[in-house]
Amino acid sequence: MGRSSPAVVSRTATGASRYTSRSILAAWNPSMPPRQRFAVFGHPITHSLSPRIHADFARQFGIDLTYEAIDAHPEGFPEAVHAFFVEGRGANVTLPHKAAAFAMADIATATATRAGTANVLTRLPDGRLEAHNTDGDGMVRDITERHAMDLRGHTTLLLGAGGAARGVAWHLLDAGVGTLTIVNRNPVAADNLADAIGDPARAHTRYWEDLHDIGSFDLIVNATSAGTLGGGLDLPVSIIGSRALCYDLSYGKSAAGFVGWARGAGARYAFDGLGMLVETAADAFERWHGKRPDTDPVYTELRQTYG
Ligand code: NDP
Repeated sequence: MGRSSPAVVSRTATGASRYTSRSILAAWNPSMPPRQRFAVFGHPITHSLSPRIHADFARQFGIDLTYEAIDAHPEGFPEAVHAFFVEGRGANVTLPHKAAAFAMADIATATATRAGTANVLTRLPDGRLEAHNTDGDGMVRDITERHAMDLRGHTTLLLGAGGAARGVAWHLLDAGVGTLTIVNRNPVAADNLADAIGDPARAHTRYWEDLHDIGSFDLIVNATSAGTLGGGLDLPVSIIGSRALCYDLSYGKSAAGFVGWARGAGARYAFDGLGMLVETAADAFERWHGKRPDTDPVYTELRQTYG
């Protein structure tokens, strides 16, 4: 599929971005049914690419929709979600609301239930709110299909135990990694994740302070929000194995520190999470619209912009 026309950005009442397609606007007339409303909730959310990605996917099928970025403070998140779903069809949820999104849903898919977090909320035809999680499928598909890497047998270090780490942990195990060592700044969250996985032979925890002497890994996944929040990680190069793949869930400037560290320290492969973002969006889009978008042109265009 060829490149789509650029998206048009308008402002919502909250000041957040709303994307729709130029071609859709041109074809719009008042007798048409109201556009389906979609959104992404986060805090911060200003730089979210989700509105643009969903507008690009919608153009592939000529689907008429609006997709807003809604900045919701944690204390106001449930209220903002309920207000949106008076009309809204579906919403993506990002940092720091994934656990809250799961908790407030009426029902949850098996994938969201085992993670205890959700990045997709869908209003079902009967009015109930369904929680789902596409993070793990999206990340593994980006690594194994877009980057053509085989994860089987990889000794794996998972940095972080927040919403995204919980979303990807089971999928890494399902993809066949040999071991999963979970290390989090707050060790309780890491222990909780390992306990929830319940596979001590493969998944276990270590303290962040132990990173200097826990050996090296074939796969290192940075699922912390340090880069996104403007901080850095002080990681020892000794954790990088001889053929290591380093993967940061964040992308753009947020991933620059970790990806730059990995390349400088000799990692064989170092990827950011831009491809994961597009893949997770495609899973949500298919859930809402019943159509599978072509992710490659959208990824290629974003990669040209975000390096
Ligand atoms: P959460 O807030 O749920 O979790 C944040 C995690 O980062 C916690 O484990 C926290 O540790 C850790 N952390 C934060 N700051 C530091 C620091 N300075 N040093 C060490 N650890 C730190 O966020 P999410 O899990 O939802 O998101 C994590 C990252 O993944 C974000 O950057 C997000 O943008 C990205 N992401 C990308 C996706 C994609 O599609 N590409 C999808 C999902 C997420 P502690 O528990 O000790 O506070």
